[in-house]
Amino acid sequence: MLLRMSTLLLRTLREDPADAEVPSHRLLLRAGYVRRAAPGGYTWLPLGKLVLDRVAEVIRQEMTAIGDQEVHFPALLPAEPYRASGRWTEYGDDIFTLADRRGAEHLLAPTHEELAALLVKDLFTSYRDFPVTLFQIQTKFRDEARPRAGVLRGREFLMKDAYSFDLDEAGLQAAYDRHRAAYRRIFDRLGLEHTIVHAMSGAMGGSVSEEFLAATPVGEDTFVGCTACDYAANTEAVTTPAPPAGDPDAQPPAQVHDTPETPTIASLVELANARRLGGRDDWTAADTLKNVVLRLRRPGAEETELLVVGLPGDREVDLKRLGAAVAPATVDVFDGWDAHPELVRGYIGPQVLAKLGIRYLVDPRVVPGSAWLTGANEPGRHATGVVCGRDFVPDGTVEAAEVRPGDPCPACGTGELTMRRGIEIGHIFQLGRRFTDVFAVDVLGPAGKPVRLTMGCYGIGVSRAVAAIAEQHHDERGLVWPAAVAPCDVHLVAAGKGPQLEAALELGGRLSAAGLRVLVDDRTHVSAGVKFTDAELVGVPRAVVVGRRLAEGYVEVRDRATDERVELPVDGLAERLV
Ligand code: ATP
Ligand code: MG
Ligand code: MG
Ligand code: MG
Repeated sequence: MLLRMSTLLLRTLREDPADAEVPSHRLLLRAGYVRRAAPGGYTWLPLGKLVLDRVAEVIRQEMTAIGDQEVHFPALLPAEPYRASGRWTEYGDDIFTLADRRGAEHLLAPTHEELAALLVKDLFTSYRDFPVTLFQIQTKFRDEARPRAGVLRGREFLMKDAYSFDLDEAGLQAAYDRHRAAYRRIFDRLGLEHTIVHAMSGAMGGSVSEEFLAATPVGEDTFVGCTACDYAANTEAVTTPAPPAGDPDAQPPAQVHDTPETPTIASLVELANARRLGGRDDWTAADTLKNVVLRLRRPGAEETELLVVGLPGDREVDLKRLGAAVAPATVDVFDGWDAHPELVRGYIGPQVLAKLGIRYLVDPRVVPGSAWLTGANEPGRHATGVVCGRDFVPDGTVEAAEVRPGDPCPACGTGELTMRRGIEIGHIFQLGRRFTDVFAVDVLGPAGKPVRLTMGCYGIGVSRAVAAIAEQHHDERGLVWPAAVAPCDVHLVAAGKGPQLEAALELGGRLSAAGLRVLVDDRTHVSAGVKFTDAELVGVPRAVVVGRRLAEGYVEVRDRATDERVELPVDGLAERLV
């Protein structure tokens, strides 16, 4: 493969796009891998498509290696199976629904358990046909409350989903273990440092479920690990799950209060519910975000600290628990925190609210400029820390912040829990008979009696994995792709025009004939400096510079990750690089 920069559909950007909050999003946009096309919808440009395909291929190989068979379901589906399973309503606003020309209801599939169960019921009737596992790599649609960070959370995204069917629990356990092991291999091959954590099963149902989280500070999931044993869990799964937030309209009508001189926590709760905090009287249910500002004076401390709590706008929040969590400081309401950013010590976001067991629901709209979207503290933003348990973590991450000693490891009882952030890149479930019961998926057993199948499902966010890899593999100059997923193996830079350009093209031809994927920068209207900068931004593992020493038969080979540079003879280069 030989790609030429002079004709490639690629425009690198010098500046960070204003709306990109996390490194992977910034870099994938700047280096010309993706382009925003719709809210939560991205176009994969040629370089991005190459990476996406390579990621998908690694996944396909490992799925096939454990005997899974590839299928492809439609994405546009009739409502009936999802009504039968209850997920038409369980997924709620998260599913895209539509009607066809006859008025029949449809949906754009957010996941395919129903279809897989129906397909197996349709085709297989005997125990002899089992076990069987199907997988597909397909576009999924979810009307995410908060599409975010480019392809990290899209409304349309590529998923690998697999569905196993077994006759008994032992079979399901074996299928689950097989997929768990295959996932480890996949993420290792993709260069993704990851942790397997206990998880909640959510709308999927079923009992046992584990998530694969790629550790990064910009991840939306917070997980704990034990210092003494190998216990790891999503904080959602450790803390008592937040009670389902009922219909907000069903709550007693909020009363409007004036800000009292010395508010108590109780009055704060009332104020929050009245949506009139900090003396502002313009909060309404339509606000995208409300900030509760607490002034804290720790016992014995001279200074006052401000704690800004960014709360989703149109939901009730149980501030009583929040107040208890931030005590023993004095808590009062403070207006105009924007004027005193230097005093702001913390900014509580959804992860921390979840950790504290505080009930909230996320507002469906994007909240521009709020630090808690990423949890990171970007320059120019107000937050200088986050709150974890009762402790301020002034560096703005929850990494390595300890949960209370009051939180011993639930597995071994001796170790302590530590917290990190991660991106959910994979999720595996033992569904049991949740779906096979709905559709009565029975086959004839060995004794002539019907056997109800038991099911597992196994998902990987393929497009999200690309962003997760970028998140873990970049530096201040750009992307640094692991060789297994890089769009090309070699980035050939013609440092000058004339003979150097000719030689670069000729060398490119030879390298590609030797089986390497080659990107050659054959542009004539940009300087060598720009080409080097672009090569670093694009992040191909090795650059080959055809420059001044060409006359003596040498080129320079640069390693993107280590920055190591060596001069090598042009003759025999292809053999050395393969
Ligand atoms: P999340 O908690 O991030 O919303 P999920 O638990 O809803 O993810 P699953 O139903 O478990 O997602 O889907 C399987 C995999 O699909 C996830 O582990 C994740 O990698 C990926 N995924 C889910 N939602 C999205 C999305 N909106 N954009 C990109 N990838 C996604
Ligand atoms: Mg989700
Ligand atoms: Mg999840
Ligand atoms: Mg999940």
